[in-house]
Amino acid sequence: MTTGAATDKTTTTKRATIRSVRMGLESGTVQAATLAAEHYDRIALANPELNCYLALSRDRAMAQAEQIDALAAKGDPLPTLAGVPVGVKDVLAMRGAPATAGSKILEGYLPPYDATVVARLEAAGAVLLGKLNCDEFAMGSSNENSAYGPVRNPVALDRVPGGSSGGSAAAVAADLAVASLGTDTGGSIRQPAAFCGVVGVLPTYGRVSRYGLIAFASSLDRVGPFATDVRDAATVLEVLAGEDAADATSSDRPVDGYVAALDRPLAGLRVGVPDEYLGEGLDPEIRSAVERVLDGLRAAGCEVKGVSLPHTRYAVPTYYVLATAEASSNLSRFDGVRFGLRAEQAKTLGTMFRETREEGFGAEVKRRILLGTYVLSAGYYDAYYRKAQQVRTLITRDFLEAFREVDAMVTPMTPTPPFRLGEKVDDPVSMYLADIYTVAASLAGICGMSVPAGVTAAGLPIGVQVLGRHFDEATMLRVGLAVEGL
Ligand code: GLN
Repeated sequence: MTTGAATDKTTTTKRATIRSVRMGLESGTVQAATLAAEHYDRIALANPELNCYLALSRDRAMAQAEQIDALAAKGDPLPTLAGVPVGVKDVLAMRGAPATAGSKILEGYLPPYDATVVARLEAAGAVLLGKLNCDEFAMGSSNENSAYGPVRNPVALDRVPGGSSGGSAAAVAADLAVASLGTDTGGSIRQPAAFCGVVGVLPTYGRVSRYGLIAFASSLDRVGPFATDVRDAATVLEVLAGEDAADATSSDRPVDGYVAALDRPLAGLRVGVPDEYLGEGLDPEIRSAVERVLDGLRAAGCEVKGVSLPHTRYAVPTYYVLATAEASSNLSRFDGVRFGLRAEQAKTLGTMFRETREEGFGAEVKRRILLGTYVLSAGYYDAYYRKAQQVRTLITRDFLEAFREVDAMVTPMTPTPPFRLGEKVDDPVSMYLADIYTVAASLAGICGMSVPAGVTAAGLPIGVQVLGRHFDEATMLRVGLAVEGL
């Protein structure tokens, strides 16, 4: 296993982007059906090693591709994502395709409906290739918690792709999808994007519907896109964003034109760098990548200044109290009655519940249910859950204060480059601590994204995080585009 092997094997043609697919369809040099078939060929070749896809939805994909080709042949106007092959994280419902959430407990579950985001992608012309591997119930930072085996990082096969949306990031990096959907509760879009060298966007809480998402922690869960570059990510986000009657937490604020916003000039924007994000534990190569990006933004006319987010050091513990508390409640519905797996030998209803959950959940999920149940229990609620809610407010206020001074922020995305498979599996706390730069934005509900910013001397991808105000994805993406060009 050597660096780059999978990319060499899977990249037979020049990488497609949403723009190149569209131009090809309009000029007749690309057929959506051929493009989809080529993706399936590459998946057949690369997936045994990478393990990105858990299920393929070939019939649905090919039917959609043929419809798009018919539209193109007639010269009809094409929808935004016409013919674009996309993959969907396995925590999202896609009618007729298995949804496992990376868990054994959902084995055999076929959702009878589409998540709103899936329906929106298809209505915009996208071709849905299949379902992508992830950590069980999106709990993890390495994709090693999937009941269906880990995903390998396509850039370096002995490394993790990040998690929990590891399959979604790796599929785009390995050219097994032009774009994909992931979810981010405490970093699960941004961190794998950084580890695989692609763009990943965490929209503001409420900007994108969660209907049809298998919930992990409902006050933190968000759906967002992975893509090769910032322009493609903005294009997909524009399709996903907007109010949904089926999700009461989705916002009715009008959606900005994210793609159009990319062309607005950058000069004069104030970019903040939080002091607390450059402390000890940060890999020196990542630190220099961030410094290089800041120099570039200065040269592009931005005013770069230090800001302070004083409650940052409480973010990881606060996140792991609140996320586990919500998970313990959300995951109570998996009891062998309604979905997926049922322990067949059990003699009574009570033992059936217990044995189903014992057999069906993996170690990390059980750990979190236990932790979450504990922090919510009478006697400990005030000390842990209530306290964490209070600290969440302080963390949010830190951002609101800082965003009075600046229009966006730039930070490291991860403390280290992608680590080796197996390196942290036996040490959950060190895995949790690696979420240091992601979870504060999750708690605050603001938008964020990871943008590739070069590679280490060993050739491992480095991601830089851009953070934006609530519902100001437009400014964040504009800064992201500039970072990408540096
Ligand atoms: N790594 C974090 C966790 O394990 C975040 C996961 C996520 O965003 N879904 O909870």
